[in-house]
Amino acid sequence: MNYIHDEAALERIRSRLRIEPGHVRRLRNCFYKKHQSPEASLGQLPESQRATFGREVTFHALKLRSRHDSRLDGASKLLFHTTSGQLLETVILRIASGRTSLCVSSQVGCAVRCRFCATGQMGIALNLTRDEILDQVIQANRQLRAEGRSIRNVVFMGMGEPLLNEAEVHQALDVLLSPQCFDLSPAHVLVSTVGIPDAMLRCAERFPNVGMALSLHSARQEQRELLIPLAHRYPLDVLREAMEHVAAIQRHPLMIEYLLLDGLNDTDQDVNELIAYLRGLRVHINLIPHNSIREAPDLIGTAAERRRWFAATLTAAGFTVTVRYSLGADIAAACGQLARLETVPSAEDSKCGEDVGQQVERF
Ligand code: SF4
Repeated sequence: MNYIHDEAALERIRSRLRIEPGHVRRLRNCFYKKHQSPEASLGQLPESQRATFGREVTFHALKLRSRHDSRLDGASKLLFHTTSGQLLETVILRIASGRTSLCVSSQVGCAVRCRFCATGQMGIALNLTRDEILDQVIQANRQLRAEGRSIRNVVFMGMGEPLLNEAEVHQALDVLLSPQCFDLSPAHVLVSTVGIPDAMLRCAERFPNVGMALSLHSARQEQRELLIPLAHRYPLDVLREAMEHVAAIQRHPLMIEYLLLDGLNDTDQDVNELIAYLRGLRVHINLIPHNSIREAPDLIGTAAERRRWFAATLTAAGFTVTVRYSLGADIAAACGQLARLETVPSAEDSKCGEDVGQQVERF
């Protein structure tokens, strides 16, 4: 199958069908930047060439199965299925400032198995292809057209560990940044990882202006392994070395994601070890509230007052800190809740909204 995102295939087809380069340029402009349907975009070609081109080029890799809009905030969850029938989720985040972000999935399921994450409890099913990753952005933009919005930020924080699907994620990043395609500013794209040192370096070297977030969650090896089982492969000192290299390459500070869990990683010792671990690094620390999942009822989020204390302690130590909150908890679309669910959690499960007004962006 020749996907629209495949530059080389597109050029071969264009040349064989003897289509003017300017016509294909206009078609792509319509499709990527004006968020028009394939049919409307094909209208940019001379009539005699539309049908043949349309038969040879595939525009969509996913089928939208359902859309769930939050009643609490500006989140919408899109549930897609792949051609092989696998389900995956993408979350639109309408930020109060008027900007719109998209949280994309890079895998169906995830082999990292973080304890606090519903996706991790599924294990790994498959890596998404470049075209499946990009189609989440295409179809989300199509949904948003009616609202006069379009995606400004793309964050790889959905289902899966992006750096365990490195080749496809790199290809997707190429297309997201390409002036002929999505033309997103690298400053508006963020790859989030649990910390796979070699892959972090490769990503930073190839995309030095794309943001990177490290899900640290603890600066104590034992605690970190409890939360992120894969962490046993990458000890904190090795990770710290990778962070230094990444910080030296990248223009933006490295984002440190820290999920606050009551009694697990929010003690005096935790904050002191975190300060010692990050000292000297150019980082921005994001403190994230826990969104409960059925699979880990024993994990409880840190109370608001303790979160403020944790943030103040880090700030006093000289770090830039943001206390985040998640959108979409009522539709199981908040951080850690993505698990191909069409049902929504009960009101009891929903922890969303308690921090509304503190911070409304994920990055
Ligand atoms: S938090 Fe991310 S890396 Fe961890 S299991 Fe969930 S999807 Fe995978």
